[in-house]
Amino acid sequence: MHWPAVIGDYDVIVIGAGISGGTIARELSRYTLKAAVIERAPDIPFGSSRANSSMIHGGFDDKPGTMKARFCPAGNRMYQTLHEELDFKFRKCGSYVCAIGEEEEKHLEMLLGYGKANGVPGIEIISGDALRAREPNAAPAITAALWSPTAAIVNNFEASLAFIENARRNGVDLFMETEVNGLLFNEDRSRVRGVATKRGDFTARVVINAAGVNSDIISRMAGDDSFLIHPTRGEYFIFDRRVGDMVDAFFFSCPSDKGKGVTVTHTADDNLLIGPTSVHQADRDNRNTTRPGLEEVFEGASRIVPNIPRNMAITTFSGVRANSKSGDFHINALSSPRGFVNVAGIKSPGFTSAPAIAAYVVEMMKDSLGDLVKFEPDPKFVPERRHIPRFADMPMEERERLAKADPKWGQIVCRCESVTEAQVVEAIKRGARTVAGVKLWVRPGTGRCQGGFCAPRVVEILARELGVSPLEITRHGDDSFMLTGKTKEPLLPGEPL
Ligand SMILES: Cc1cc2nc3c(=O)[nH]c(=O)nc-3n(C[C@H](O)[C@H](O)[C@H](O)COP(=O)(O)OP(=O)(O)OC[C@H]3O[C@@H](n4cnc5c(N)ncnc54)[C@H](O)[C@@H]3O)c2cc1C
Repeated sequence: MHWPAVIGDYDVIVIGAGISGGTIARELSRYTLKAAVIERAPDIPFGSSRANSSMIHGGFDDKPGTMKARFCPAGNRMYQTLHEELDFKFRKCGSYVCAIGEEEEKHLEMLLGYGKANGVPGIEIISGDALRAREPNAAPAITAALWSPTAAIVNNFEASLAFIENARRNGVDLFMETEVNGLLFNEDRSRVRGVATKRGDFTARVVINAAGVNSDIISRMAGDDSFLIHPTRGEYFIFDRRVGDMVDAFFFSCPSDKGKGVTVTHTADDNLLIGPTSVHQADRDNRNTTRPGLEEVFEGASRIVPNIPRNMAITTFSGVRANSKSGDFHINALSSPRGFVNVAGIKSPGFTSAPAIAAYVVEMMKDSLGDLVKFEPDPKFVPERRHIPRFADMPMEERERLAKADPKWGQIVCRCESVTEAQVVEAIKRGARTVAGVKLWVRPGTGRCQGGFCAPRVVEILARELGVSPLEITRHGDDSFMLTGKTKEPLLPGEPL
């Protein structure tokens, strides 16, 4: 494809289409300004927003006065309305921090104090027996637990896609597989004037850096080296739905200086999830799992919920946190050069905090960059967006009605998760380009067989809908081709197989 030297001229460019970039893009789309999101990956979500515990935290973990303590409870309060507007899976389940013994109980007292100072409603400490009366699989050794009723679980794939999709519906442009590798400046470098990518330049009045684990690299391009990202990997096990009801709420171990500790929960789609670890690494993109890491996860989880059946594990994964030394978020508009905003170091509870951060960023821009960008409300802004209908959750009459209207609704592609051809086709229409991308949209490959049966069908449908050879279909972009070649080649050119 031929790309012009300057691909687009925008009021605002957002680097990164994770939950931070997506929520900011949607906030910007409430105004008549011209905005674009630039993402290096082929699929959304790709960075931390793709691989995490998917918890909407209550907001008691962080020291009062920090940005995290401010934005986490505020984000939590916004999610119910956002779930109704944007139709991603979300369920209030509450959370327990489990203490074993006196030392850990002291920690609960501290968290209770933080929670009260941060304005978290309804938190209280209950006894181990009271916990077990509600949650029979909680460990007999637990002596007390901090209960936070406003905590919730979200489908992080659906939520990340929903914000971006709604922003696009309201006029924001999205450029995938477009890595930002430089910034543009005016002559005396007093202002950032856009971004350089391998496809060409994008000019803009303001650039927002929401590049996750790469946010310090982008910030240094603007001359700001006030923070460094120290990537920290967290590994997980995910289990069959059949054991998803071992816990009803989200279980935390008592936190330590390494992080929030191993947690046990069910996902928004009812799988049991245990993890994560917290391992510093130099590589920003290494998402491997390791035997010692997974052993640590299993041991940590068994301490608070014993008897998790290991043979029901269906897969493992890991995510990388954008840790900074301060431990807090780095959200600011640079005074020199002007026109550059950091939304950086967004580690946990970044998913929870994102909607509140996005609202704050727009207010901050109105105050400090209002001369560069005009914020006029767009009367045509549509807050709603609907997810692709979920066949697995439909009553039988609805399934029959849809299959009569379009036979693709009657073709099951993924048997584990009951995903139909119609859903896969719709995911591709809405932007999925890879096998992993389709999985993020409508879940084929997330079940017990992990794509063993459905992956070839998904390749076939992707190739047909995109009008390309199946040999061109990748798992997750670049050279991750699903097929290496044909098993039978014609003997002579043009001869049928
Ligand atoms: C193991 C783990 C568990 C967690 N658990 C929770 C939890 O339960 N609850 C919670 O609230 N938070 C949790 N978090 C934190 C949460 O996931 C993150 O704070 C949040 O997802 C960060 O979103 P983001 O958009 O800032 O970054 P990301 O999701 O990483 O998005 C950044 C995007 O920028 C793109 N990008 C990077 N460089 C470039 C470039 N040069 N050009 C173009 N694009 C670029 C990346 O491809 C990526 O898509 C967890 C994180 C991890 C890793």
